[in-house]
This record gives sequence, C-alpha cells and structure tokens, in this order.
Amino acid sequence: MTEQAETTTKPETTTKPETTTKPETRQGIGVSPGTAYGPVVQVAPPVRPPAHEPAVDDEEAALADVKAAFESVAVSLEQRATRVEDTAQQILKATALIARDKGLVKAASKELAAGHGRANSIANAVETYAAQFEALGGYFAERVADLRDVGSRAVAAVLGVAAPGVPAFSEPSVIVAEDLAPAETATLDRSLVVGIITEAGGRTSHTAILAAQMGIPAVVQLPHATQIPAGTPIALDGDSGEVTIAPDMSLVTAQRERAARRKEALAHLSGPGRTSDGAEIALLANIGGVDDAVAAGAQDLEGVGLFRTEFVYLSATRAPTVEEQAEIYRGVFAPFEGRRVVVRTLDAGADKPLKFADLGPEENPALGRRGLRLSAERPDLLDAQLEALAVAARETGADVRVMAPMVATAEEAAWFARRVRENGLPKAGVMIEVPGAALRARDVLGEVDFGSLGTNDLAQYTMAADRMQGALSDLLDPWQPAVLDVVGVACEGAAKVDRPIGVCGESAGDPLLALVLVGLGVTSLSMAPSKVPVVRLALSQHSVAECQALATAARGSRTAVDALHAVRDGARSELTDLL
Ligand code: PEP
Ligand code: MG
Repeated sequence: MTEQAETTTKPETTTKPETTTKPETRQGIGVSPGTAYGPVVQVAPPVRPPAHEPAVDDEEAALADVKAAFESVAVSLEQRATRVEDTAQQILKATALIARDKGLVKAASKELAAGHGRANSIANAVETYAAQFEALGGYFAERVADLRDVGSRAVAAVLGVAAPGVPAFSEPSVIVAEDLAPAETATLDRSLVVGIITEAGGRTSHTAILAAQMGIPAVVQLPHATQIPAGTPIALDGDSGEVTIAPDMSLVTAQRERAARRKEALAHLSGPGRTSDGAEIALLANIGGVDDAVAAGAQDLEGVGLFRTEFVYLSATRAPTVEEQAEIYRGVFAPFEGRRVVVRTLDAGADKPLKFADLGPEENPALGRRGLRLSAERPDLLDAQLEALAVAARETGADVRVMAPMVATAEEAAWFARRVRENGLPKAGVMIEVPGAALRARDVLGEVDFGSLGTNDLAQYTMAADRMQGALSDLLDPWQPAVLDVVGVACEGAAKVDRPIGVCGESAGDPLLALVLVGLGVTSLSMAPSKVPVVRLALSQHSVAECQALATAARGSRTAVDALHAVRDGARSELTDLL
C-alpha cells in the first residue's frame, strides 16, 4: 500500500481548483494500490508531421537528417537508461534498439524518394512498421506504443520542436495520458509523480505492472482521461479504481483519513503471512532483476515467488553465457540468504520475445511456441540457464526453486523436472497458466515439487481474451467466476497429489482476491512488494474457514462484479473499511 503519495502531495501549493469545475467521479480500474491527490499533468501527445511539408530537394542530406533524428532518440533513451534501474533500464534499452533499427531508416528513405518531406517520411515509415507489428499480434502489437513513441520523438527531433511525453514539472502531480509507453512509466520521477491515470491500458499491461512495482498508485481505463485540463486537482484510489476530478476537500480528507488508518493498521503487523487461525501463507515478491531483488530483499517478505528471468534479457542481442547468467543470478540470490527464490526459466516468445530465442513469426504468438515450448526447441538455452542457476545456487545460501512457464501437459512437466534435477537443482515446479494444465493439475503437478498459478495468462486463456487488449479488461478480470473455477480445480488437483500451489499473477496482490485464493487452497502469494503489507493484513483478519466461505461466495456468483461484491460484503469490515 502506498502512503508516500499522501505524504509527499502538497495540494495547497498546487494549482487551485477552477471555481467553475464541479466535482465529478469516474470509474476506472485500480491497478496499483494507494491513494493520491494532486494537480493533473497531461502527457504531451505525440508530435505529428506537418500536413503540407515540402518535398526535399537534397535526398541524401535529408536521409542524413532522418538518420541523425533516430540516432538522437536512441542516444537520449540510452542516457535515460543509465539513470534508472533494472526493469526500467531494460525497457529503455529495448526501445533504443527500435530507434536503431536499420529497417526503419530504410523505410524512411523510400518515403523520401517518393517525394515526402523529412517528418512525413519518418511518420510514414513508422506507420508501415506499426501495421506489420500489429498484424504479428502479441508482444509485437504491444510494442507498437514504443514504436510510435520513437517515431514521434524522431519527428520532433527532425522538426526541432520539444519531444512528446511527460513535460517538466516541479510539484507532486498526477500524470495523465492516453497510454504510457513502458519506457515512459519506468523513468517517471517517483518523488514527483504521486499517481498515474491512463485512458487505455489494462490490468496486466506493462504500465500497470511497473506502476505497482514502483509503488505509485495507478488507475487505467479511465474514460476521457486525456480531456481533463492540466492543473485540475484530482484524487485517485488505486485500489477501487475510483477517480474524482476537482474533489471536495471533504472527499480528499476522507481518503486521507482512510489512508492514515490503513497506515496505522499496517504498521502493527509484520512477519510471515498467516491467517487469523495460524495457517501459513507465504508472502513473496515478483521481481525482474538484481536491483528489484536488492530492494525486495530489504523488505519484510518471505522470499521471491517469481523471478521473471526474461526481463533481464529483453534487450540482449545474443544469448548470455553460463558465467554471465550466473553473475546475475548470484546478485538475485544473495539478498535472500535462507529465504526462497522461485526462478522462472525464460518465458520467451509472444509478449516477451528475446532476440536470441526467436523462432520466427507466428500467426498467434500467444498460442505459439512460447515459454517451455520454446525451450523444447532450444534445449541448449534451457540447459545453459539451468547450469548457471545451479552454479549461483551453490554459491549463495538462498533456497532456489526453478519453475517452467507455459506448461500444458504432464509429459512437459516430467521433461522439465528431469532436466532441472540432472543439473543438480533440487526443486522443480511449473506455472499453471494454461487451462489444460489447471484441469489436469493432479497429473501435471504429480511430476514436480510445486505449482504456481499464473492468473494473468490463465485469465487470458480461460476467457480467450488477449491480455494486451485494454478493451477486453472485463473479460480478463480475475474475478470472473470461470477463472476462479479453473483456479479451484487446479487447487483440488494439487491437493490430491499433496503438492503446494501458489499464485504469482497480479491477482495475488489484491487483498480481497487473496482471501478467495487462500480459500481455494493456495499456500503462497507472490506480488509486487508494495502490495504485501495489505495482503498480510487481510490474511491476519480472516480464518481459513472464512476464506473458504468467501471463495464459495465468489464461485457462487454469476458475474465478476457480483463475485467482487459478494466478497466485499462478506469480508470483515476492519479490512473493507480500509480499502
Ligand atoms: C502470469 O501469467 O500470471 C504470470 C505471472 O506470468 P507473466 O505475467 O510473466 O506472463
Ligand atoms: Mg504468464
């Protein structure tokens, strides 16, 4: 839960509410917990090329200008990368690689030859590329935002005007945008940005994941967010998704009081996750690299439940060697001496392709050769990773466990477990994120030591809704009773073969949903570290039997909204009063 926003926000020094603006409440989707209040800073929209730009007379000189524009974008992204950490750095470097793509310059040179001006040539080249990315779907479609961001910056550079994006501002503010490129989110100044609101985006989009990781309260899918005038005071609740424009001070005060009560309730609680009747539910962190590990290691949590190793290599152009990998893994394990670290082997492909593990274009990458399927085609990559993990595990005192992404069958689980054990790693597990694996969890988990439910993908595949599509967020809602049914069946399967099963999707960090998940039978919850305290509190206030009753109420509901309401009504008011 983020209280910092409250304490760093100084509304009295911010732009005053326009007297004509009436308070108005709108509903979005809360994706990063905490409340915030401050003036709106609208992210500058993309710079468009002029409608009547004259054709160039010296094509060669124009091409040199275009190249220089792309290069200056790449350099500025790389410079920003040096000022940020880990996941943010990888994202910025990956975006800089787009700006250096030779194909983009080539496409722009064709546009120049066709008689377009410099700015229009850049814009047209980017749109040609964007159409190709969109057609490829999955990860590529998601990178369209980054690609257009690069294009818009290059257009600004060639026109000699200010770059698009977050303008300079000096007081604690709420950033509002159509959507934020991951590069933009990752590099926001945490001390000045008290909240984030986007008109687009989804529950499991990169913006949501990064905001939670950075501990900035955030709401996505807020209708007409970009039309809110800059400077308008705005209050947001990253738990409920409620946003109030020009709020009465009474609302802001109530929100602040609630945040203070929450802070007080959270302050008195520490240590391992436990229900009120003492059942142990491990509270774990989701991390993406060494800096995340160092930060999470210093927090009151029981270890790492998901280390997304592919995040480390998003911008790598060649496969890392065993020693290069071992170096990273040592850095991740070191802060967790005596605690568990669950490492997921490369989840490459679909929304997270790695240059060195590319099997070529696919019609439906999310349903294609991604995750463990890719490892099966490139066992050399898996073996190198397992070897490096084994080396680092031996040299550090962490309780290292390794799991595979995108497992669908018992044979795949057995194949993976054998390789893990052959490499001298003691514990093998699998992600349960494919409905087929969830339905047959007994067989799949029978082959390994533990399971971890990836509810982001499990929702995507159960509801047949692309998780990158903000417009489908209602279907992707983990409160969907069908998703809860699939989770419930997986937990029953795990119990039959006596294997522990946890959750490492975004749903684990929702305090009400966490109660439902525990009621369904999960024994660990892994989430952005900022979400751990409130989940610890929720567990401490409810017994296992109460969690089971909440799970029954949720699964007995007809719709996702009904399920949420049933649990909100059934949970203890000591918790719901704080949310
Ligand atoms: C998931 O699918 O829920 C998960 C945790 O993995 P990722 O979000 O990295 O796909
Ligand atoms: Mg997944």
